[in-house]
Amino acid sequence: MVPRGKPKRGQARLVKTPREFLAETVERNKTKPFRNKHLSATFLGTASATPTRKRGMPSIAIKYDDLLLWDCGEGCQMEMMRRRIGSGSVKAVFLTHLHLDHFLGVFGLVKTLGMARQRRIDIFAPDRFRKIMDAMEIDPSFFSTKEMEVGKLYSGDQYDVSAFRVKHRNIDSFGLVFKEQERTRIDTEKTGALGFSQQNYVDISTQGETIIGEKKIGIEEVLVCVKGRKIIYSGDTVYDERIAQIAEGADLLIHEATYTEEFADLAAKNGHSTARQAAEIARMAGAKKLVLTHFSRMCSNDVLEREAKELFENTLIAKDGMKVEVKQEKWA
Ligand SMILES: [Zn+2]
Ligand SMILES: [Zn+2]
Repeated sequence: MVPRGKPKRGQARLVKTPREFLAETVERNKTKPFRNKHLSATFLGTASATPTRKRGMPSIAIKYDDLLLWDCGEGCQMEMMRRRIGSGSVKAVFLTHLHLDHFLGVFGLVKTLGMARQRRIDIFAPDRFRKIMDAMEIDPSFFSTKEMEVGKLYSGDQYDVSAFRVKHRNIDSFGLVFKEQERTRIDTEKTGALGFSQQNYVDISTQGETIIGEKKIGIEEVLVCVKGRKIIYSGDTVYDERIAQIAEGADLLIHEATYTEEFADLAAKNGHSTARQAAEIARMAGAKKLVLTHFSRMCSNDVLEREAKELFENTLIAKDGMKVEVKQEKWA
């Protein structure tokens, strides 16, 4: 059955009735049928502050037909080429904050895309970024800058990207959310069990009900909800339990984990999190998977992983080039 009633805080707001869902889905499908798509996050750079031999500067490629870049550190273009991710399909870039490690790669990318006569690229960034772009004197026809602010920023085919504020030193800093639209579909397991004929499908799709024998079957009896997938990225942040609320039920939480517990004081001082703190956020959020990134060169991968897994087992330590698929789940 379709979940009803008041959802818990942070949960998908499923307050519509099955009939409302159906009406909405049918309306949307008239112009553009919902297609199942692969969703993935590829880590292009996973270091903090300075690169190492194995880790480049922060950048994450979110692929869902469109390609979105979340942060665009130095070397981002080269890493995309190495991973055979075509920069030509980048639709928009989102810069979580204006620390150099998170945006130095964007200038070269804009120039490359502009020279290749690709479409104009949208760059969402904190306000000061406009001045930086002006100073770079890049052809303004190559890009448009948009101010990063809390709430929905960008909508593509079947998804939205929104931002939320995080605490990171004294600089304007944001986290990001990718959210796929929710939808319903007729469950063929249920209709099969009820013995649906072709005509029953036609009736229920057009009138919301059908008759089998003496029995009237309503659309709500055969619908399943397909929950939209959700990816959350913390950007650079101190430990902040508000992120757990935003990440509630996320399919994938990407959280910075600059330090191990040994450096917890430094994490607080520098506006960062430890791996254990990130795991605590994932645990509170009930996230399905946690990927840690943005590592200090002072910290060992093994210790980061061990400390996180003590609290949240399904944790991965990001490596440059690592691709994480986010699978579609049925929600009935
Ligand atoms: Zn950083
Ligand atoms: Zn930073």
